[in-house]
Amino acid sequence: MTAPDWVIRGARPLGGQPADISIRDGVIAAIGQGVTAPGVQVLEAAGLVALPGLVDLHTHLREPGREDAETVETGTMAAALGGFTAVHAMANTDPVADTAGVTEQIWRLGRQAGHCDVQPVGAVTVGLAGSRLAELGAMAESAAQVRVFSDDGRCVSDAVLMRRALEYVKAFGGVIAQHAQEPRLTEGAQMNEGVASGRLGLTGWPAVAEEAIISRDCLLAAHVGSALHICHVSTAGSVEIIRWAKSKGWQVTAEVTPHHLLLTDDLVASYDPVYKVNPPLRTAADVAALRQALADGTIDCVATDHAPHPVEDKETEWAVAAHGMTGLETALRVVQEAMVETGLLDWAGVADRMSARPAAIGRLPGHGQPLAVGSPANLVLYDPEPREAVDPATHASRSRNSPFAGLVLPGRVTATFLRGRPTVLDGKPA
Ligand SMILES: [Zn+2]
Repeated sequence: MTAPDWVIRGARPLGGQPADISIRDGVIAAIGQGVTAPGVQVLEAAGLVALPGLVDLHTHLREPGREDAETVETGTMAAALGGFTAVHAMANTDPVADTAGVTEQIWRLGRQAGHCDVQPVGAVTVGLAGSRLAELGAMAESAAQVRVFSDDGRCVSDAVLMRRALEYVKAFGGVIAQHAQEPRLTEGAQMNEGVASGRLGLTGWPAVAEEAIISRDCLLAAHVGSALHICHVSTAGSVEIIRWAKSKGWQVTAEVTPHHLLLTDDLVASYDPVYKVNPPLRTAADVAALRQALADGTIDCVATDHAPHPVEDKETEWAVAAHGMTGLETALRVVQEAMVETGLLDWAGVADRMSARPAAIGRLPGHGQPLAVGSPANLVLYDPEPREAVDPATHASRSRNSPFAGLVLPGRVTATFLRGRPTVLDGKPA
């Protein structure tokens, strides 16, 4: 038998018993007692949890168009440092990823960067304008093989367009990922509508604006027999609707962001725009419902909605500041804090919600595979023990708008492997 390229010694697959993981030619060659030989690289991993490489369904890489906020190079490095081996790049770039040409450009930039796989998301409508369907078929047939389509940042609010999009992607097994925000109900909205918005005098963003679109789209997906994915679910009511839709057997999946699992709208009292995000931070009752839904599988997966912004767009008055938060480099730590430390998920559950499920929803067969012999060697080694304050100055992302800055969180990503090649070692770019 040929010697492996790497032996990861003493890691705990899914937090279980220690084992050596041998990697050869980009795949997991053995799990058990690792065999070393001259030339084999050994990574001492005693105490580290080994998980399959994380997959993000919802990343804003900002390139092309807003390279001052992020580039494919910096965003995918941030992803690797967070333990991700694949990210879906949202379509709201400039130009918008609404043609085969732009999606292929983003796909190529990802391959050149090489820190993680970049799977472009195609726009549903031309220019995200919500008036006519983009060339979904051409994007699907392009080199990028787009399967997930979204106008994220904006809602596909026209019911007829949403129906047509669901019908169109059904032919090739695609999925429409909806940013559920009824536009009329959220005109001028600045934060969650509730006690806190009343006290602060900011225009409220009612839960019903999200829930009305989710209800409609679940019904449309059922009517058409097609696949709907709901981005960044943020309210307890949305969870109830999704639970009902799933009980019917409809093809509905959903994601929740790390920040909606940990933070509440009380933080807006600081008027610090780092807490301004779309959908807005909600109440503690919503956070509890989201955690429970992720634990019981009503919400399928975690997705970061990593939304980098340059300082001048974020460190300004609340009313004019951009929506969005960075999240790739803190996602696993936040999930440990919100879900593992609370006993809601074990590490196998984390692997399911952050790797297997998002890879399946995102139609990425090369990712999300179990840590088993023959699987592509996409994996992350994670130390759950240290507790340290988040310091965005150390992040690889070009932007610094982390709502977790200064917050003490558990965990540290030690190493990430993409098809057997380390992208991160000792917590740093390899
Ligand atoms: Zn969105």
